[in-house]
Amino acid sequence: MDGGIVDSRGPKLAVDTGASGYLTIDLAALCRNYEKLSAMVAPARAAAVVKADSYGLGANQVSKALYARGCRHFFVAHFMEALRLRPQLPGNATIFVLNGLLPGNEAACAEGGIVPVINSLDQLRQWSDIAQSLPRRLSAVLQFDTGMSRLGIPPEDRGSVAAHLQTSDAIDILFIMSHLASADDVDSAQNADQLAEMHRIAAEFPDYDISFANSGGIFLGGDFHGALARPGIALYGGAPTNGVANPMEAVVRLDVAVVQTRTVPAGARVGYSGVHVTKAPTRLATIAAGYADGLPRSLSDRGAVYYDGVRLPIVGRVSMDSITIDISALPEGTLSFGSMVEVLGHHQTLEDLARDAGLISYEILTSLGHRYNRQYR
Ligand SMILES: *Cc1c(COP(=O)(O)O)cnc(C)c1O
Repeated sequence: MDGGIVDSRGPKLAVDTGASGYLTIDLAALCRNYEKLSAMVAPARAAAVVKADSYGLGANQVSKALYARGCRHFFVAHFMEALRLRPQLPGNATIFVLNGLLPGNEAACAEGGIVPVINSLDQLRQWSDIAQSLPRRLSAVLQFDTGMSRLGIPPEDRGSVAAHLQTSDAIDILFIMSHLASADDVDSAQNADQLAEMHRIAAEFPDYDISFANSGGIFLGGDFHGALARPGIALYGGAPTNGVANPMEAVVRLDVAVVQTRTVPAGARVGYSGVHVTKAPTRLATIAAGYADGLPRSLSDRGAVYYDGVRLPIVGRVSMDSITIDISALPEGTLSFGSMVEVLGHHQTLEDLARDAGLISYEILTSLGHRYNRQYR
């Protein structure tokens, strides 16, 4: 069996959709994660961060499933995402735009009933101007920078913001918020620093509820919960905290088809540039997913996939549409044309794959390609 497609007796799974890989998204597990986080923050509420197409898993499906479980607050990053999601959700769901509005989007935002996160004094004034031209008040959220220097009203503008709110009644501030930079690291001193700054802000703006915690923040304890937590990654099964066992349930499973198997002698070059050279006769399989499917090139000669719990190392470079794996650890004939191997699942978590790729779980999830057959359960 050297070269070519091996006709084996191994088990095969039908790939009857034309796709070469199955991405299975377990909406029941997603909802259980939401309920776990909701219970942790109660009596505060949990929103859902569904930016970047719900971290690649499908904002429409994810948001509808979470709405059915009682979620009413949905955060996206870009206004475009809010426009797409708005018609999918009932009117009593609120969609917030974390990045705020770009100049020119204000009228469409007001018309769509979408709530911008105001990140600067200028944006506050602009939104007030629009509101003043309308017969009704407009809603907004104020984001303050508590030490991340990314988005939000800086400390030196807080006085002007407070003064503006005193004089203008055109905007209904639903709550104030800030974002934690190091919430996945329980030992980081930055968490306490940001919490102290959040308390100062709360004292200056005593009329409003607070939204502070992302996934990691929820696990930092009740001081960080405020009135509305904003989990993202933990909903999707990613670990909220580094260095401890992941308390969340896996939501994603990825299986990819074998499209060819072969046996090569010692000294064979595998993949682009021939960087991998076999040291012994080796049985190889090529699977039908590559970096265009979100399996990054940094997995070359580092990562692995699994079959029946057996680790099958990636050999050579990850190509655009395929990856070659060493299947010598499996009994001969186990895998053949059409067999499915596990990329994400019981034996390999998001964090495992991310670590091998030198990335974080967020990058793996948000890069999952569009060539998989997506199945929602
Ligand atoms: C992305 C994001 C979140 C969610 O963060 P996770 O770490 O995925 O829970 C919450 N708040 C803001 C402002 C964000 O940008």
